[in-house]
Amino acid sequence: MPMLLSPISFSVETPPGPLNFQKTLDRHFPGAYPCDAFVDISSFHLRPFGIEKKNSIACVSVCRDEITTPFMNKIHHTWDGAFDFSSLAGMLYLGVTGFQAAHHHAPNDDGKERYVYFAFPHIAIDEQGIPGNCRRSGRQAMSQACGALLKILEESSQGIISLDLDQDDLEQSLLKQRLFGKMGLAEIPDLLSLTKVTQQIIKNDLERMIHLTVNPITTDYAVYTGVQIHGPAHKDWIWVEESYVVVDGVKKPVL
Ligand SMILES: [Zn+2]
Repeated sequence: MPMLLSPISFSVETPPGPLNFQKTLDRHFPGAYPCDAFVDISSFHLRPFGIEKKNSIACVSVCRDEITTPFMNKIHHTWDGAFDFSSLAGMLYLGVTGFQAAHHHAPNDDGKERYVYFAFPHIAIDEQGIPGNCRRSGRQAMSQACGALLKILEESSQGIISLDLDQDDLEQSLLKQRLFGKMGLAEIPDLLSLTKVTQQIIKNDLERMIHLTVNPITTDYAVYTGVQIHGPAHKDWIWVEESYVVVDGVKKPVL
């Protein structure tokens, strides 16, 4: 049943002075890489750990939104394919069975398996630095991303949120359950903060699934997680919140 809440207003945080894309990016996602450069650099930094295209499988979770496709395509090109973990908002709902399926597809010619996980929710930022807004080819009006998170903000502003598992809206209802399990019903932030909360949930879910399905003594793996940002002129950026490898059971930072 829908839960009645007090109407909650949400607003985009506005720093002093005129906003633009770069200011918003630098303020909230400092050090973000151009999308293709990130994929190249992240691959380059794994080679000293013995993790490379010929002996590893890439596993990717991004939002289902088609504007995430260039990022996915670049990973496919760089890693010679990728197992798709994606759901709405980049959440990980494939579970133990999905993780095991991906792992069983990894190269193991040398007797060892290696996995590279990419887990990135997304957000758009327009020319004026407004979070959520983006242009889509063939559509006249301004569009938005991530639509799944914006829908939750909209429902929250109206004071009605259902936390039931909706069989006709599985991914979105699971997303709400996970978000409100972490935040509480009265703690709806703005879109930027909600995106970062989502990223933390995705990271926690990823690490729980790794714990359940990976033996770090016999398997090496890398984790890249953060936020994909869609900027003006259809240019994407990647902000890395955390990156590390686990080689021979030892965790080490990369990037
Ligand atoms: Zn989305």
